[in-house]
Amino acid sequence: MVKMFQDYLGPDCHRTYSCVHCRAHLAGHAALISKSFQGSQGRAYLFNKVVNIDSGIPEERLLLTGMHAVCDIFCKCCKTTLGWKYERAYETSQKYKEGKFIIELIHMVKDNGWS
Ligand SMILES: [Zn+2]
Repeated sequence: MVKMFQDYLGPDCHRTYSCVHCRAHLAGHAALISKSFQGSQGRAYLFNKVVNIDSGIPEERLLLTGMHAVCDIFCKCCKTTLGWKYERAYETSQKYKEGKFIIELIHMVKDNGWS
């Protein structure tokens, strides 16, 4: 079953990142792991958990940090490609990224104007 409604992050999670195109919630600040990632269009953040996304078919890509199996992730509401998910990392030092999500900064907006 495809969930047609949008997920909302709880009221205790007021520092949220949303899709810049349609304002769907994407992630809470608590799920942020690292801000030091590089996407194809600039800086990107690594998150532990995101909502309102669909993922594409995993494919192997050679990244700066070695070979990874990744899939593109899309906003469930407006279908914009936001970043990617690490399905599998082949280098031991990169294993921490498995199951984590990258969202490019240009696709996110901070709700409620927090900094
Ligand atoms: Zn969107």
